[in-house]
Amino acid sequence: MAVYLAPDKKKTWKGVTVNEYFLTVHNPNKISLPAKRSGDCIGVTIHNTGRIVTSAQTTPAEQYTRATVNGNMNTVRVHFYVDDVGAWQNLPLDWQSWHAGQSGSADKNGSQAGNAQTISIECIMNGSGDEKDRKARDNAARIAAYLLEIYGGELYTHNYWCNVRNGKKGTVDELNKLNDGYKNCPIYIRPKWDDFKALVHSYRKQAVAEPADDDEMYYLQIGAFRDRKKAEAALKTAQTEKRAYPEAFLKKFTKET
Ligand SMILES: [Zn+2]
Repeated sequence: MAVYLAPDKKKTWKGVTVNEYFLTVHNPNKISLPAKRSGDCIGVTIHNTGRIVTSAQTTPAEQYTRATVNGNMNTVRVHFYVDDVGAWQNLPLDWQSWHAGQSGSADKNGSQAGNAQTISIECIMNGSGDEKDRKARDNAARIAAYLLEIYGGELYTHNYWCNVRNGKKGTVDELNKLNDGYKNCPIYIRPKWDDFKALVHSYRKQAVAEPADDDEMYYLQIGAFRDRKKAEAALKTAQTEKRAYPEAFLKKFTKET
């Protein structure tokens, strides 16, 4: 009987549940792992991988994660598996991942740069365009938007890195869309790449309400003052007057440099 993985943490990014299960923490089978990133992160690489049938107790993204832990994914190590239900994060964001190559051959400017400098998302679809496909694509777009807001950079296809490796020249999007003749990844998203980019962009513009993570704090501010005495007086009022805000506190704002 399969034993399903239990995430160490659940996060919500732009409405998508992200189950954190780092291979750097859980590696009972001692599978080989990528290294921590030393250079800059320059964006996000999108892939498609096939939808798999799972038992009702779990999801394809968990099953791909479990297959990785069990050493059944060859050398593929990605940051995220995303399906219609949510995402499983397999690696910390400041680690490299293995996803941009082909036939196991790394090269300086193609797969190696893609592995070292981009965050990888495997979007689980089957190309039918059904509800699960649409939801998985939408979830991947939301995760990509969240990551691009943090790191900036570009949105890449797996094809981009193959084309670079093959010596093709062009803009990011020209190489994103150009056929590489063999990989064609993300196979279901790439044919309408502009639509996917627009979807990601739409999520970057809109702030989706985020439920709290376990370790997040929210500050309630009831006023802002240049004069400390006035601030203290307002605090006293807030804390004491009719006991309206008994938990109110004063925090000095220091401009970050
Ligand atoms: Zn791919």
